[in-house]
Amino acid sequence: MMRYNVDLNGYYGDFGGAFIPELLHANIEELRQTYLTILNDESFQKEFIQLLRDYAGRPTPLYFASRLSEKYHARIYLKREDLCHTGAHKINNTIGQILLARRLNKQKIIAETGAGQHGVATATVCALMGMHCTVYMGQLDMERQHPNVERMKLLGATVVPVTSGNRTLKDATNEAMRHWINHPKDTHYIIGSVVGPHPYPDMVARFQSVISQEMKYQLTEKEGNPYPDYVIACVGGGSNAAGCFYHYLDDEQVNLVGVEAAGKGVNTGQSAATTALGKPGILHGSKTLLMQTNDGQVIEPYSISAGLDYPGIGPLHANLHKTGRVEFIHATDDEAMKAGLELCRMEGIIPAVESAHALAALSKLSFDNDDVVVVNLSGRGDKDLETYIRWNMKQ
Ligand SMILES: *Cc1c(COP(=O)(O)O)cnc(C)c1O
Repeated sequence: MMRYNVDLNGYYGDFGGAFIPELLHANIEELRQTYLTILNDESFQKEFIQLLRDYAGRPTPLYFASRLSEKYHARIYLKREDLCHTGAHKINNTIGQILLARRLNKQKIIAETGAGQHGVATATVCALMGMHCTVYMGQLDMERQHPNVERMKLLGATVVPVTSGNRTLKDATNEAMRHWINHPKDTHYIIGSVVGPHPYPDMVARFQSVISQEMKYQLTEKEGNPYPDYVIACVGGGSNAAGCFYHYLDDEQVNLVGVEAAGKGVNTGQSAATTALGKPGILHGSKTLLMQTNDGQVIEPYSISAGLDYPGIGPLHANLHKTGRVEFIHATDDEAMKAGLELCRMEGIIPAVESAHALAALSKLSFDNDDVVVVNLSGRGDKDLETYIRWNMKQ
C-alpha cells in the first residue's frame, strides 16, 4: 500500500532524493530526522488544525457548480481554496512550516518567491508568529508582480531583489539556498511547493493533504460516496495537485488529472509543460523531470500565469507521470483565459489564472452524465485583474 508515497530514502520511484551542497547537509538531516515526529505530535496537530480553521478559514467549501455541470454533462464540484486567507492554498503549507520552525527553535524565516504568492503567504505567517522574514525574489519578478512586493512589505517582511541570472524564480531559489548555508543555526527555509530536497516534497504534500481529507467527507455528505470519478488540478511545482490527490492515490478508480501550462503552445518554445517537454535531471535539490537543453541547461519556462511558469515538477509528480497514475494534460494561455472567463460569467467566481488551467480541462476530457468531477480551485483572481483586462482587449 501507499506505493506512490515517498520511501525511506526520500525517493518516489526513480525520482526525489536530496542533492544538496555539503554545507546544507546538517540542516536537511535535522529536518529529515524530525519532521515526521513533529508532524505526528498531538500538540502540533492541534495547533495546526486550529490555525487552519480559525486563521486560514478551513474547511473550504465544496461547491456544486450547477451551470458548469449542465454545460459539461457531469456533476462538477469546485474545491474552494480560493476562499483561503491570502487567496490560495499556499497558506496551508506556510502555517504548517512556521509551526515546525518554532518546534525546531528557529527564529528566522527565509523563502523564495516567483509570482509573490508564496512570499505573501510566508510573510503572513511570520507576522502572525512575530518572526523575522526575508523573501528572495528575482528583480524581474519584482517588477512584474509589484503589488505582492508591497503586500510583503506591509506584512513586515524584507524583500531582497536578486539580480543574478534571468532575475526570476530559479535565481531567487539559489540566493535563498546561499543564505541558508550562511545561517544554518537560527534559520528555517520555507519552500513553497512539493519541490526541493527530501523531506520537503513529502512535508509540503502532507500539509496540503488537508484538501483531499476534507473532500472525502464533503463528497460523502453530498454524494453518499467519498470517491469522485475525477479530481483535476493545475500543476506548477505541484502542491495544490498533491493536496487534492493525496488521499486518493491508492484508489485507482479515481481518475487524477494534472493540468500544466502550455503557454503559447507546447512546441512554440514558450511553454511550461514539463511532462511533455522535460527530461530527468536535478533541479533545486531533487531528481525530477525538468525542461532542459541537450547539455543540461535549464530552459526558462513561460506561461501567462506567473504561478505555473516553473521549469520542473515535484518528484512525486514525476513518478505519478511515469507510472501513469496521474494523467497529465496541458492548456494554453488562451484556453485557460477562456475557461477562467467562463467561470466568471457562469458561476460568479473570478479564478486565479493558474486555477483557470484546471478549469480548461473540462472541455478536454469526456465525461459520462453521472460522473462526479472535482476541480481544485487553487486560488482567486483578484491578483490577475490586469491579465484578464489585457486578454479581453486583444479579443
Ligand atoms: C502558486 C500557485 C499555484 C502553483 O503552485 P503548485 O505548487 O503547483 O500548486 C497554483 N495556483 C495558485 C493560485 C497559486 O498561487
